[in-house]
Amino acid sequence: MVTLYTPGHHEVTDTLIMYGIIETIKFYDPFSKVSVTPLGERFIIQTNLDKHEILNAFEYYAKESWLSKNLVYLGNLPQTLRIYMLQRGNENRQLNNIIESFKFLTDLKSIKQQLIKQLRKYPTLLDKFLYFNDNHKNIIYKGKLIELCGKRSRSSAYPLIVANLPIAPFGGTMQQVGSYYLCKLCIALAWTGLFYFSGRIISRNDNIQYTYIHIFKPESTIDANTLIMLKNIAQINFFRRNPFRKMGKDIVLPSVVIPLLLLTFGETSGAILNRNWKSIIYVFTGEKKGIGWRTALRSIKTFQANTLMSFVERAKIYSNNFVRLINNLSKDEDGINALSTLSEALIYQDINELYAAFRQINRILSNNKKQTKLLDKGIIKAAFEILT
Ligand SMILES: [Zn+2]
Repeated sequence: MVTLYTPGHHEVTDTLIMYGIIETIKFYDPFSKVSVTPLGERFIIQTNLDKHEILNAFEYYAKESWLSKNLVYLGNLPQTLRIYMLQRGNENRQLNNIIESFKFLTDLKSIKQQLIKQLRKYPTLLDKFLYFNDNHKNIIYKGKLIELCGKRSRSSAYPLIVANLPIAPFGGTMQQVGSYYLCKLCIALAWTGLFYFSGRIISRNDNIQYTYIHIFKPESTIDANTLIMLKNIAQINFFRRNPFRKMGKDIVLPSVVIPLLLLTFGETSGAILNRNWKSIIYVFTGEKKGIGWRTALRSIKTFQANTLMSFVERAKIYSNNFVRLINNLSKDEDGINALSTLSEALIYQDINELYAAFRQINRILSNNKKQTKLLDKGIIKAAFEILT
């Protein structure tokens, strides 16, 4: 039985690392027992595997998983994944960072030897590195604090590499704070978490790209087998070309709409609904500047997700029109506004807002005869059951 502690870099990065850890452990041993407990922005992960097996699990994942094989042996991500996962204009550099991190994991045992050499100076270094010690980020040596992972420069006892925005949205160069460096283990695990457990929506044209990333965060202790089910929701990706530019407008999707869209097109299950979840949504934009692209974080937002999840679950059961309704509304500005009102009503449990949302939706549907029946009794029943 061992306990692992995520490092405490940031709520987003730690959530992704937590998913990376459970993905690697479950890939190594599907029958292992793993539980996850959130603690502020960090997580405590408990498992019946021992320390040696955890080291093996990280290495095994890097050698045998589909994701890692693609990166390490083929040196690539499939084209569609490049669009969703990597910052525009910086794809190759980011990809190289990811490949380097996964390559590092394939030979973790030799890294262990290197770290052991330093153990004479820092007896807890290996435990820190593998998250068994609750302080992965720094070490106190002869009364001095030494930063290891999560710093603004590369020099460290740890093998560090720059953390790009999709896994460390707080670390952009636009904020004039410089690059943020994480150890290669944190980087590889965070990208694994992002790949399997985030939902992503991209809207773009030749000069601008908006990337919306959504991750669920459990709010209490949860079994990893339940967390793994989130892949069914997270694997949904949307790509839209010029969705609003046709109208000569530059509309950013409100963050509050993102979980509704992803839940509508993804699959939820009863086991997930029995738990409390938070939605974390972060948005960044890439803008073309000269021959290059500049990417910046626009926002990071969080919402309680349970009422929204229950609504979507029931609406799908009570109505055959629900998915079509959401899909049709998500195609223009008025529809997106109506979906925002609906999401807000459900998340904040506001009945007045719910009436307003249904009025807005009816108004939009009344413009098109074929669509008027899409907002049916089943959908309305699902919403009122949740809020009353
Ligand atoms: Zn690290």
